[in-house]
Amino acid sequence: MLEFNGKSVYNALSMGKLHFLSSRVPTIKRLKISDTRAEILRFEAARNTAKEELQVLYKKSLTEVGEANAQIFQIHLMMLDDEDYFGAIRTMIQNQKVNAEYAVSYTSDIFARSFSEMDDEYMQARASDVNDISNRLITKLSGDDKDKNILTEPSIIVAEDLTPSETVQLDKEKILGFVTFGGSPSSHTAILARTMNIPAIIGTGEIPCSHHGENAILDGYSGAVFINPSDEKIADFKQRKALEEERIELLSSLKGKPNITKSNRKIDIFANIGGPSDLAAVIQNDAGGIGLFRSEFLYLQRKDFPTEDEQFAIYKEVAERMLGKPVIVRTLDIGADKQIDYFNLPKEENPALGFRAIRICLTDTNVFKTQLRALLRASAYGNISIMLPMIISLEEINRAKQVFEESKDELRLQNIPFNENIQLGIMIETPAAAIISDLLAPQVDFFSIGTNDLSQYTLAIDRQNSSLESFFDPHHTAILRLIEMVVKNAHNCGKWVGICGELGADMELTEKFIDMGVDELSVSPSYILKLREKIINLP
Ligand code: PEP
Ligand code: MG
Repeated sequence: MLEFNGKSVYNALSMGKLHFLSSRVPTIKRLKISDTRAEILRFEAARNTAKEELQVLYKKSLTEVGEANAQIFQIHLMMLDDEDYFGAIRTMIQNQKVNAEYAVSYTSDIFARSFSEMDDEYMQARASDVNDISNRLITKLSGDDKDKNILTEPSIIVAEDLTPSETVQLDKEKILGFVTFGGSPSSHTAILARTMNIPAIIGTGEIPCSHHGENAILDGYSGAVFINPSDEKIADFKQRKALEEERIELLSSLKGKPNITKSNRKIDIFANIGGPSDLAAVIQNDAGGIGLFRSEFLYLQRKDFPTEDEQFAIYKEVAERMLGKPVIVRTLDIGADKQIDYFNLPKEENPALGFRAIRICLTDTNVFKTQLRALLRASAYGNISIMLPMIISLEEINRAKQVFEESKDELRLQNIPFNENIQLGIMIETPAAAIISDLLAPQVDFFSIGTNDLSQYTLAIDRQNSSLESFFDPHHTAILRLIEMVVKNAHNCGKWVGICGELGADMELTEKFIDMGVDELSVSPSYILKLREKIINLP
């Protein structure tokens, strides 16, 4: 039995086969080859497959994003025909008797370096193209393709780290837990684990992929991963799993009960979701509503923009299944850690401080309006509210409202029904919004505090960077003061305020939040009953 330790981001237990995700380029080892002819043939086959793949990508982009954007694939195709580059790789395999992966990686490094040292900017940029080609070839050579990410049986996912677009591609029904070598507690993998009620352990350091397919136990209480567990460990797991199930049973007796403290102080508990597939957990855990529907997940799961009708159908389904309970849909929040290829966003030095969320919507108002129209139409079928992410100014609210009003006018002209009293709120997740919350409150119907981003921006700590863990204090006085200030400013203006970041589920703070007057906590569905239990027992 082997043991690896990390930090648990959700307390739960599971056992199953390890499935290593291989979306990243594997580490390259130098190996001695005896049959260099066969190795060169293997390399040529990989090169041909890469060419075929690029031709398909080129044609697809030509129709979807136009000649200018498709050109990148032409450049890569040309590189795949460059005799200097390939001659050098073949010679290296032939003369030094090394494996093709190593020859590609070594030669590409040299070519990339000489490109990056050139004076001409255009030539410098070709360095990243060489790296791209090299990665594509190495992936082909090592058979380390994306289809390996298809889960054939329930498995524990192991990866260096996972981006939201990688997690959305996984078949959720088959995920037993997550282990990431890096990662952070407010990453979307952690959020997904909490929604799904499965263990997630981050920061284990590298686990060799030779353990792919082996049996393991994830202990989300202690943060340990046991590979090939002993009989004793398995027996212990079974006993604890049975206790865990008993506890879940006990919590289910709290369904239908109000969230009221012993001294009659009340707070709403809503759920955070990424799409209709999370609704079963929301209903099962008796949420009072949906406090955050991260609508960008609808965009992440696809290869192209979702149409108004497609979005309408989804929002309508959520509104209807929630039977009149509030459903707060946050408008598109992509950028930063949530990248979507078809948006063709520029690469940025600091994506968390970059072109994201409302900034994209206010720039591409067609994308924004498509979503707003879909939401407005769905508002006729339930209790939908709209929430804007990443707001920093009054100006942004005004610009968003203008598109919102235009969308309403269009629907009125088309005689399409919608809720004329639909509420519009904002997320308070930037220090700027918190500091001017007294000015913002009169302009909106409610606030929801996004503590994941509010903490990252207040403390200047990247929420994705696990190596900063020792500097990160989720209970930092600066964050608590900002929350208190936002609650006061909202209430002074007669507006309600909730918390929808991960801190909302932090039970060490529940009493403090109630004391501050927070009106609603929106948490992962698996935390709803635990939080209710905590509240019922508060003085
Ligand atoms: C937040 O920032 O706290 C939040 C709820 O939004 P997200 O985690 O999706 O950025
Ligand atoms: Mg956020």
